[in-house]
Amino acid sequence: MDEALLQHARAAVGFMPGDEGLALYDAGLDAAAVGPLLEVGTYCGKSAIYLGAAARERGAVLFTVDHHRGSEENQAGWEFHDERLVDPRTGRMDTLPFFRRTMEDAGIEDVVIAVIGSSSTVARSWATPLGLLFIDGGHALDAALADYEGWSPHVAPGGVLVFHDIFEDPAEGGQAPFEVWKHAVASGDFDPVSKTGSLRVLRRVSS
Ligand code: SAH
Ligand code: MG
Repeated sequence: MDEALLQHARAAVGFMPGDEGLALYDAGLDAAAVGPLLEVGTYCGKSAIYLGAAARERGAVLFTVDHHRGSEENQAGWEFHDERLVDPRTGRMDTLPFFRRTMEDAGIEDVVIAVIGSSSTVARSWATPLGLLFIDGGHALDAALADYEGWSPHVAPGGVLVFHDIFEDPAEGGQAPFEVWKHAVASGDFDPVSKTGSLRVLRRVSS
């Protein structure tokens, strides 16, 4: 991966360990020939740099969807709260300004396109077949399942579906993404391709 982009990705605020970020980048390189890349769960843009780097190399784009108000686990009092991301005017989370700066500083605004809104609302109006879908939005079971059901039909044949935060051992993390990943595998529509830390890559085998 481009060295400057890698430095920006590593320095960005967010939840994407370096080895998993590079696996995401590799999946993006592989999938960009099939169609555009789409991420659910932008936050401050850390994973978007890894995927954006792949998109740039392949002449593709990344759409990244988020309402920028944080997931349940990002709210005050929860485990993954970061008070720097609270808008002092309203007391609500607002990661959009941080995302904007991350993309500007990395110099990747030309290939990373922010879509600001609720994932399920955007999914309902989406029609473009995707080369890659990365699911890293809300991590409660209803949210993760809604992202899978709403977005996975848009993954084109040969395209890839990537899940984050898959923990087989409940001691390591929440089980909802793992439940949804199992559901995706059981559907027979997706075959497992690779596993790096908590990142799982699958490929669409049928429509
Ligand atoms: N990929 C990021 C981390 C994402 S954190 C990284 O690399 O650091 C999860 C994000 O999903 C949060 O920013 C939250 O606002 C967003 N999110 C949660 N539920 C959502 C929903 N229903 N619609 C849109 N975005 C949602
Ligand atoms: Mg994650």
